[in-house]
Amino acid sequence: MSDTRIKEIRRRTVFDSRGVETLEVEILTKGGGFARMAAPFGAPGSRGEFEAPAYAPGGLPETIGLLDKEIIPALIGMDAAQQDKIDDLLVSLDGTANFERIGGNTSTVLSLGVARAASDTLKVPLYELLSNDDPPTLPTPLGNVIGGGAHSLGPAPDMQEHMVVAVGAKSVRHAIEINLKVHRTAGRLLEAHDPGFAGGMDDEDAWAANRDDVGALEILEQAKKQVEDEEGVEIRMGLDLAADRLWNPVKGKYCYAREGTERTPAEQLDYVGSLIERFNLVYVEDAFHSSDYDSFASLNARYGRRCIICADDIYASNYARTQVGIEKKSARAMIIKPNQVGTVTGARRTAALAARHGVRPIISNRSGETADTSIADLGVAWNAMMIKAGVRGGGRIIKLNALIRIEQAVPGIALSPWQDWLAAG
Ligand code: PEP
Ligand code: CA
Repeated sequence: MSDTRIKEIRRRTVFDSRGVETLEVEILTKGGGFARMAAPFGAPGSRGEFEAPAYAPGGLPETIGLLDKEIIPALIGMDAAQQDKIDDLLVSLDGTANFERIGGNTSTVLSLGVARAASDTLKVPLYELLSNDDPPTLPTPLGNVIGGGAHSLGPAPDMQEHMVVAVGAKSVRHAIEINLKVHRTAGRLLEAHDPGFAGGMDDEDAWAANRDDVGALEILEQAKKQVEDEEGVEIRMGLDLAADRLWNPVKGKYCYAREGTERTPAEQLDYVGSLIERFNLVYVEDAFHSSDYDSFASLNARYGRRCIICADDIYASNYARTQVGIEKKSARAMIIKPNQVGTVTGARRTAALAARHGVRPIISNRSGETADTSIADLGVAWNAMMIKAGVRGGGRIIKLNALIRIEQAVPGIALSPWQDWLAAG
């Protein structure tokens, strides 16, 4: 049996896809295993208010000091194959409820890095090592085609992500290819419709269009129809409003700067409902600010049988916040981002809680990404219904390509049956 005990941990700072400094660690085991892991990062204005802070209160310099003095020495000699013990140690070293002392990115790179180091030492794929008791499935990629909100500059749409998902794709590879075709087609349509469009992209390699949200959805609808005709496959559209950024608590209204409109929560509910109906949306994430469980629940009661109402910033991958949402029936799906909660075990527990109560987990990247592909493995291991990892661009396509490799490596693995689940109500 290979020796999975941790021999050495190196640390440094590098830069993420947005050019922001981030923490990277390398973990070496006594049995010769190696893992390199860097932390992804959400955009200011898009990171959830309730997620773990990224680093120690003094930022990366204080974090590095904590790593050198306390955290790395405590981890040396621990068994990388005992994920629960590693994660318990990180929680106790931190000593706060939400990684406020050492930071959620700090704990996540160590937690995921340890998992990868164990996987490398034992020569067992990460999705197999972290698998729950159910047979693995492939998450369907939800592709961000036109961006806006906190991920864009200039007169982009107010909402953050205008997305597509292939219905009835034959394989994960096919679903990825369809999203790429829609992305390409949408680019050509934007070029034809907007004389000022110069092919600019946002932080997630979605097109940065000079359009409001309805204008973006109209282009997306045209693009998807063209690809539907070419491919003979149904494609549906979705939105991430990232509504915290639209919400003005002083006014008590959602403020759409590009559109020049303000909406009360009741008007927001009607507006989002009208978009679901007009564009036959199959997915709506964060339609309300992250304290408004009740408006989420109203939208879910009205549309949850035909459209996946998904919670991201409001649940923040956090067990207790997810429990509240489950009780209030606020959403039928939730985003899992490991660094919102800070450990593999924390993310797994929240995903399992959701799944037990019929709320489907969706695994997601961050807008500032790295070369790590672990979310592909986590999506497979935990039967995530979908994956949010953009459509193209270096830090995103590598995660989608990782799914293609898993599809090839696991005989008989299928896409998660999300449409059956939606239809079952
Ligand atoms: C999101 O809101 O789903 C997202 C990926 O953005 P960020 O990483 O900026 O929070
Ligand atoms: Ca989101």
